[in-house]
Amino acid sequence: MTQSFTIRSQTAGIWWTVRIHDSLDQMRATATRHRPRDNDLDNTMGLCQPTNYWEDGNGLCPPPHNYGGIIRYAADWLDDEVFLHEIVHAAAASYRHMGRLNVNLGRDCGRNEELFAHIYGELAADLLWKLRGRVKIAA
Ligand SMILES: [Zn+2]
Repeated sequence: MTQSFTIRSQTAGIWWTVRIHDSLDQMRATATRHRPRDNDLDNTMGLCQPTNYWEDGNGLCPPPHNYGGIIRYAADWLDDEVFLHEIVHAAAASYRHMGRLNVNLGRDCGRNEELFAHIYGELAADLLWKLRGRVKIAA
């Protein structure tokens, strides 16, 4: 059963829905139904769908005041790297949502942002892996 909850950034004044789908197939199918241009998801293990890039059939929707969008994960493929990778996209979209378009990774989630998200996800996941068992991480 798909689980949903919300997360928020006080700094950006924005909140996001996090949806954990039962499987990768379900996540990919739901994401494509939600935003048809996300239709090449064979290598996608998680997905960030910001509101400011959603389409309603008449073009791009203006962002609601403080809603960032949906961050999607699959319960059968959720690991630290995927988890952290999608948060990079959400952070960049939150920054843009504030009207700050000077993310030097591009205006949308393009190749530069994708590369940055991969590097961040790998480094942060490796750091978490190395920290586990060495230090007590506060809840
Ligand atoms: Zn990505």
